[in-house]
Amino acid sequence: MCEKMRAIVATKDHKAEVVERPVPKPGYGEALLEMECCGVCHTDLHVKNADFGDVTGRILGHEGIGRVIERGEGVTSLKIGDRASVACFFEGCGHCEYCTTGRETLCRTVKNAGYTADGGMSEKVLVTADYAVKFPDGLGSAEASSITCAGVTVYKAIKETNAKAGQWIVISGLGGLGNLALQYAKNVFNLKVVAVDVNDGQLEFAKKYGADVCINPIKENLGEYCQEKLGGVHAAVVTDVAKSAFNDAVASVRAGGRVVAVGLPSESMDLSIPRLVLDGIQVVGSLVGTREDLKEAFQFGAEGLVVPKCEMRPMEDINDIFDEMEAGTIRGRMVIDLTRK
Ligand SMILES: [Zn+2]
Ligand SMILES: [Zn+2]
Repeated sequence: MCEKMRAIVATKDHKAEVVERPVPKPGYGEALLEMECCGVCHTDLHVKNADFGDVTGRILGHEGIGRVIERGEGVTSLKIGDRASVACFFEGCGHCEYCTTGRETLCRTVKNAGYTADGGMSEKVLVTADYAVKFPDGLGSAEASSITCAGVTVYKAIKETNAKAGQWIVISGLGGLGNLALQYAKNVFNLKVVAVDVNDGQLEFAKKYGADVCINPIKENLGEYCQEKLGGVHAAVVTDVAKSAFNDAVASVRAGGRVVAVGLPSESMDLSIPRLVLDGIQVVGSLVGTREDLKEAFQFGAEGLVVPKCEMRPMEDINDIFDEMEAGTIRGRMVIDLTRK
């Protein structure tokens, strides 16, 4: 009789369901992780709703954290007992122009956990060993889970702005991503932060976490404020999902400034061509992070510079969590505890 494990899968009617699956055997270059937890991301909501196509039966989750319990042949990067991640960037081809030039997340044949590969919401997960990123002791598994997606995404986005210590950055949207962006910006990159959110409660929170200026764009014009008071910011990271946030970010940067887009509204932004050309503005997109970015993001978490807010929930809560997500009532990150029987 084969061993069974419980896993959360997407169903045909766009729900999630806890099912039993046989425990997979690691093949060449693969490792089996006994999972500790897996965060629930907005992307999981889109995946189970089939917004990116039907994935019925796919195990969800790309913020998984587990411990290596079995290794296939040829594995040299992980030892038994190592703790490692099941991240959105599950595997690249390893030989294309992106994989070989430090831009592996752009690989055209990339596999994404919880979407094109079985993900982290399972008691056990098979990973391609070379692609599962280890993390240091001293970092809790729930916190590591949050860094696996949200943390590395904003860490990478701030890196992409090329902003230097002491310079000004706009962080637009102070939810799950933005809150971590604020912590990385202040505590790791030593930047001065203009926190922007339409919710005053989030701004209060941002103030506590060290935001230098807080602006509610419904009450105050962000572009005008930044240009008049700061001479324009050097960079902006937009985690917000309102189109206006992207336009405001462009309006807030100084000449030569860089706007990095992370939020993903399914709309177009306005971009004045004279502004782009005459002021040398750059607008770039940033998608999660490479294995090396994740390693760095984990390290800063382990050093206590970035502390994600998380709440543990049982597997059976998954549909409730998705409902809460859709209703916008979630504060912090919901993390599925995969050790509870
Ligand atoms: Zn995610
Ligand atoms: Zn590739």
